[in-house]
Amino acid sequence: MAELDSLREPDYTGSNRCWPCTLVNVLLLALFVLWLRVRNRRLMGLTVATLGVAGIYLRGYVVPYTPQFAPRLVAASPLPNDLFYDAGVDTPEAERPSLTETDLDGETVLSELATAGVVESDGEILLLTDAVDAAWHEEMDRLSALSLSALAAETRRTLATVSEADTFTDGAEWVVLGGELVGRPVVVAELAAYRVLDEYVDDESVRLAGAQSFRMFLDECPMCETALVESSEVSCCGGYTKPNQSPDETLVCPECEQRLFTFPSE
Ligand SMILES: [Zn+2]
Repeated sequence: MAELDSLREPDYTGSNRCWPCTLVNVLLLALFVLWLRVRNRRLMGLTVATLGVAGIYLRGYVVPYTPQFAPRLVAASPLPNDLFYDAGVDTPEAERPSLTETDLDGETVLSELATAGVVESDGEILLLTDAVDAAWHEEMDRLSALSLSALAAETRRTLATVSEADTFTDGAEWVVLGGELVGRPVVVAELAAYRVLDEYVDDESVRLAGAQSFRMFLDECPMCETALVESSEVSCCGGYTKPNQSPDETLVCPECEQRLFTFPSE
């Protein structure tokens, strides 16, 4: 099996498998085999079918450039998208981008934080003040040293909105809140920010929303200290999450394979 594994293309198989690409490839392969049969090339058809199925299994797809057209083709087809992408909210597969939900808009939150002396503008850009930044990093260092289950317990103790917090590991590490997954580095950054804001902000909803916005000031992962990279939110090999929409820009830790921040789309 070692030879087979060396042929495997992990980017397009396993949990990364793109189902629209797979489906389109199986259909195209079947059409080609049928065409060979019609032309009485039975043996050729059998060989192509065998190699094609093996190729799709091991490599994700065999028709060149499939990732560039298959997801959009399937998105444009009348097939329901849920067939191909996880839509479930009850499974612990659903990721949620932050510890809390907020209905405050970003601009209100930032202006409240500026009034409270948490952020200051440096020309065009907003920055955390030095004192806040130092306190935040100190608290993140403390929280990142906790075990995952201790972090979940700490989340429950700290946030009144959280009554239950579990843990889940699938290669990446998560805290489970109400059946939804929040990445461990996200929890560390946000919980630390929430604590620091205690001194500066009285309004609970501003404090919660403010803690979320802190993550955009991260330049390295609070768990593993890897430099974050900007990426775009693409559900699979070149196919956008939704048709006719450009992907959101995100900050990602390549080491933990987790998303730290999603910049709101314009
Ligand atoms: Zn990381």
